[in-house]
Amino acid sequence: MEPADLRIDIGRLLDRLDELGEIGRIDGPNGEWGNARLALTDDDRAGRDLVVAWMRDLGLDVAIDAIGNVIATRVGTDPSLAPVMVGSHIDTVGTGGRFDGNLGVLAGLEIVETLDQHRIGTARPLQVAFFTDEEGARFAPDMLGSLVYVGGMPLEEALDVIAADDGARLGDELERIGYAGPVPCPTATPPAAYLELHIEQGPVLEAEGITIGVVEGVQGISWTEVVIVGRSAHAGTTPMRLRRDPGYCAGAVTTFVRELVGELGGGQVGTVGRIDLYPNLVNVVASRVVMTVDLRNPDDDALEEAEGRLERFLAELAVAEGVEISTRRLARFEPVAFDPVMVGRVEDHARRLGYSTRRMPSGAGHDAQMLARICPTAMVFTPSVGGLSHNIAEFTEAVDLEAGANVLLQVVLGELGAVG
Ligand SMILES: [Zn+2]
Repeated sequence: MEPADLRIDIGRLLDRLDELGEIGRIDGPNGEWGNARLALTDDDRAGRDLVVAWMRDLGLDVAIDAIGNVIATRVGTDPSLAPVMVGSHIDTVGTGGRFDGNLGVLAGLEIVETLDQHRIGTARPLQVAFFTDEEGARFAPDMLGSLVYVGGMPLEEALDVIAADDGARLGDELERIGYAGPVPCPTATPPAAYLELHIEQGPVLEAEGITIGVVEGVQGISWTEVVIVGRSAHAGTTPMRLRRDPGYCAGAVTTFVRELVGELGGGQVGTVGRIDLYPNLVNVVASRVVMTVDLRNPDDDALEEAEGRLERFLAELAVAEGVEISTRRLARFEPVAFDPVMVGRVEDHARRLGYSTRRMPSGAGHDAQMLARICPTAMVFTPSVGGLSHNIAEFTEAVDLEAGANVLLQVVLGELGAVG
């Protein structure tokens, strides 16, 4: 068979997605189901073990690096050439879907199996990777594993990150689950190219009836932790004018973020996703609040403007309410533009296969934006039903998964140099 006529086997891909999804499975009330595999938990270990077993079954050479990234290699015929890498992540948020990340990794394994089945060799090696802690739900920042892989964060600093929920140290958890590997990180052998297939996680493709999203880049991301310290007091006896109330301030910050986004317009979005009140009791004015603000924009100047206005608002609020407000940056990534040549190839292959396409930015962060620092990179998006993601009802139709994986296969084959 000619390489241009090769197609993946959607049945095999769906089987692997289902089997991986059984680990940390969450069932909803209406038949929907998703996953909780927070980074470096026992369920993450079980998911990793399963995918690594599949990699070994396919005869791949499995390497685990010092931050727990797993990179499996199918050899090429020309040892002097750098590999082409496909990948994503298999960790999830606490109430995640079963396609986010998993699709990109398991589509990589499906490509390997398709090439093996048709006895197709390639000049360059093919690598299938999954990166540690992409979600950042347990250990901030997100995309931590790929960030360390490309040299964007020192390994020691990453190993010392403390979990937001349970206080565990990342390096200790990595050792505990057996994924503190021997391969040095950051990598000494960057790939020749990186490609990531991912669900859109937004409503645009479905709304426009388009099958393949050709991703041109990723918007800038700014995460800030805000700590507000006031004074605990009795909810009945303390006059309003004498209160220093962090609970009120948390509400004011949340409202401000919504109003700020409305005023700035354009591509600006903003979210308060976490508010922890202490002591969190019905009849006590809170003494302290820890909350987060997530700001994103495809335009870095506009994102800086949003950050500056939030900062000024917090300073004014602290004075007006008599509280102390401190901030800590949890993540800050500039917008990323993918390689225009690679982006064009994704579009060309998708059209040749007969799929409708649309160029678009990514609203979510992805490992691809880190890999873009060290090699030509592009992404392929498939539609998300209802635009849902980070939700157990996240779903993508099999026909769309198949389309995305076939586009990935063809782009990768072009980069690998098929030798029949
Ligand atoms: Zn993802």
